[in-house]
Amino acid sequence: TQLAPLEMDKIVEDSARLVANQVRFAKVELTVSCEPNLPRIHGDEQKLKQVFVNLILNAVDVLPPGGQIHVKVGKDKMPGYVLVTVSDNGPGIPEHIQGRIFEPFFTTKGQGKGTGLGLSVSRGIIKKLGGYIHLTSSPGQGTTFTVSLPTTESPS
Ligand code: ADP
Ligand code: MG
Repeated sequence: TQLAPLEMDKIVEDSARLVANQVRFAKVELTVSCEPNLPRIHGDEQKLKQVFVNLILNAVDVLPPGGQIHVKVGKDKMPGYVLVTVSDNGPGIPEHIQGRIFEPFFTTKGQGKGTGLGLSVSRGIIKKLGGYIHLTSSPGQGTTFTVSLPTTESPS
């Protein structure tokens, strides 16, 4: 597929629009904030949206009404990378399954509800672009997924 220089804030805002109906239906709150003047990244627009749609919908799935999702786009501490975090204040991910959620077909959703492919496909997409995806989660407090992608200026 074609790799083009992309504005990450646009990708994230488009992703938020794509899930707007589901967010409303679940009565959860989704906010997006973007640092100004971010360098662009190389990527495939559709595939990157697929990643963020999945991360946001995973959060929607675990949140009760009134729950909150915050997506933040900014510069990574790692020079040459743009960082996106998707945080929720849901139940968190138990430590003993944190190592397994990126495996294909791993899901805790009921029969016929989850494929367990979202995170494994997402990790594949991000890796292919030279990026990283990982999670931090404290059970009872919430979950944050972190995606970093190299900017077009960074050496590769
Ligand atoms: P699916 O959504 O089909 O279950 P994913 O690969 O997208 O597959 O997610 C795998 C599993 O990771 C989910 O079934 C769930 O157990 C866990 N998970 C993902 N995101 C979250 C989240 N924000 N909070 C709690 N658990 C999560
Ligand atoms: Mg999913």
